[in-house]
Amino acid sequence: MILIFCAPSGSGKSTFVKYLLENYKNFELSISATSRQPRGKEQHGVEYYFISAEEFRKLINEDKFVEYEEVYTDYFYGTLKSEIERIQQKGYTVIFDVDVKGGLNLKKIFGDDALSVFIMPPSVEELSRRLHGRGTDTEEMIQKRVEKASKEMEDAPYFDKIIVNDKLPIALKELDELLKEYKMI
Ligand code: ADP
Ligand code: 5GP
Repeated sequence: MILIFCAPSGSGKSTFVKYLLENYKNFELSISATSRQPRGKEQHGVEYYFISAEEFRKLINEDKFVEYEEVYTDYFYGTLKSEIERIQQKGYTVIFDVDVKGGLNLKKIFGDDALSVFIMPPSVEELSRRLHGRGTDTEEMIQKRVEKASKEMEDAPYFDKIIVNDKLPIALKELDELLKEYKMI
């Protein structure tokens, strides 16, 4: 099975993924490639494969991606075919942390083998507060992320399940119950 998490940036995707990886042994995160710069303590091969926009375009031409998006102008993000093979060879459930377009594309590709979950922030105002609180983006980038978030939230109904991340323990409990229902844990 494949687990797809989509959420406007700042809604808590990384927090959800961290929870699953720390508490269950059968999940592994698909590491995307991106042409954006590492943020804070991010490392190549851990959060992302950080590559140049030029290298990214080369890999697109070589058909190495399952899906990719230019999420923000000149900032490419994509899932390498080799990454999925790497995780499935180990027999683990692959977790995808992608933007909404990417998530809907992956759901189309994997169909019933995939569970798509939209993580919804309680409000756009709270999302903005969390992004400021995280302290890893410039004001301009936060504005871009918040604008994109408002648009992405309109696509939430196309997902198999929506989890509102208001109080974290409640949201994680809901996640556990969902994964049990789908026999992923
Ligand atoms: P994403 O990966 O979707 O961009 P993060 O997981 O980094 O989002 O969360 C954004 C910020 O909000 C982080 O500082 C995180 O600790 C915080 N956060 C996550 N979930 C909650 C929650 N339920 N209540 C308050 N803060 C939260
Ligand atoms: P961030 O810069 O916050 O790490 O990510 C920005 C956005 O890009 C997030 O919505 C994230 O989910 C998305 N993203 C990360 N990897 C991929 C990917 O491989 N494909 C797509 N389509 N989006 C991705």
